[in-house]
Amino acid sequence: MDDCVFCSIVAGRIGSRRVWEDEDAIAFLDIAPYHRGHTLVIPRRHVVDGTADPAVWGEVAPAIVAVSNLVKTKLGAQGVNILSNAGSVAGQEVFHFHVHVLPRYADRPGMQALAQRDPGAGDDLDALQAQLLG
Ligand code: 5GP
Ligand code: ZN
Repeated sequence: MDDCVFCSIVAGRIGSRRVWEDEDAIAFLDIAPYHRGHTLVIPRRHVVDGTADPAVWGEVAPAIVAVSNLVKTKLGAQGVNILSNAGSVAGQEVFHFHVHVLPRYADRPGMQALAQRDPGAGDDLDALQAQLLG
């Protein structure tokens, strides 16, 4: 879809900081992260959200697990939240299915801190990408 920002990222028409990919999915750093290493996993094909087609979960599953392990080993995250918003009322803003992998650290634990943006999380995303790929 030409007017879909995530289809444009898949096609390379819009830049992104990719940290993982396979034939079905890509993973890249969120441009406005809530937590350090906040990554989006998306299918290469256009699917509106995770309720549209059950098969799409299988397409992104290996990437979700790989990214979760990457942020633990490379960034020292101690856990992750794995989250997908479906529908604008649920907070979805980009209507190409995506899964947020939100790394969590011991200094900001628990569900309440999940939706509180870490003010430093967006600092130097290029260095963060290099760390994840290194
Ligand atoms: P949603 O609210 O739809 O679940 O999440 C959309 C996410 O996509 C947001 O966290 C937002 O920061 C991120 N996002 C939107 N546009 C871009 C973009 O062009 N590049 C990247 N890397 N992230 C984006
Ligand atoms: Zn799309």
